[in-house]
Amino acid sequence: MAQVAISNVAKAFGTVKVLHDVSVDIADGQFVVLVGPSGCGKSTLLRMVAGLETVSGGTIAIGDRVVNHLPPAKRDIAMVFQNYALYPHKTVEQNMAFALKLRKTDPAVVAERVKRAADILDLNPYLKRYPRQLSGGQRQRVAMGRAIVRNPHVFLFDEPLSNLDAKLRVQMRTEIKELHQRLKTTTIYVTHDQIEAMTMADKIVVMRDGRIEQVGAPLELFDRPANLFVAGFIGSPS
Ligand code: ADP
Ligand code: MG
Repeated sequence: MAQVAISNVAKAFGTVKVLHDVSVDIADGQFVVLVGPSGCGKSTLLRMVAGLETVSGGTIAIGDRVVNHLPPAKRDIAMVFQNYALYPHKTVEQNMAFALKLRKTDPAVVAERVKRAADILDLNPYLKRYPRQLSGGQRQRVAMGRAIVRNPHVFLFDEPLSNLDAKLRVQMRTEIKELHQRLKTTTIYVTHDQIEAMTMADKIVVMRDGRIEQVGAPLELFDRPANLFVAGFIGSPS
């Protein structure tokens, strides 16, 4: 487990600044949702925490280490993407085991971790199947399984439900929250969907145009939005 501290972080692609002086503190075990319109910089910020983008200014710390210059594999994080990014020619079991095998993990440990993840996510009936033989929800569960087996200190989710239909999205929200209640892993969850943010977050970070507009618990933002943008985005009572 670990806390995450994003301090005065900036990001520029060439001369274009896409994040300005962003600071967020995430407590150990907290479920924090970054929400805001498309293009506001959510994925870029998450990818910087993951080590998939360089940091142009400020610091990112995971646990007690500043990780600005650490490669993704050394950050104790696991990321789940919108498009699942499963290996099409590997079975469910192989997809989940792959990252551990790359790290030369003891086969007995790999088997035990895959079994635990399959139990948690109800994937046991599907272990020998290939991704194309699974529904969208099952694929997303495999993507989560792949993250769980690594026992990360931090989970990073980038719009993991946006490819699913509305009904499944609601069901998977509940599953992800139950997973969090069970594992208590510090989580940063990105979405552009305010309902998802309101129902899932311990703490919401509302972003616009590369800046933070407000940080607070769901009800706080609802009751006391800092400005019209937050009010409109979160949907205050009229
Ligand atoms: P969000 O996830 O909130 O939709 P992004 O973080 O993907 O937003 O993008 C934020 C801004 O950064 C957008 O204007 C986007 O076009 C720009 N951007 C993202 N990645 C790159 C990149 N690799 N090169 C140049 N601009 C980028
Ligand atoms: Mg994005």
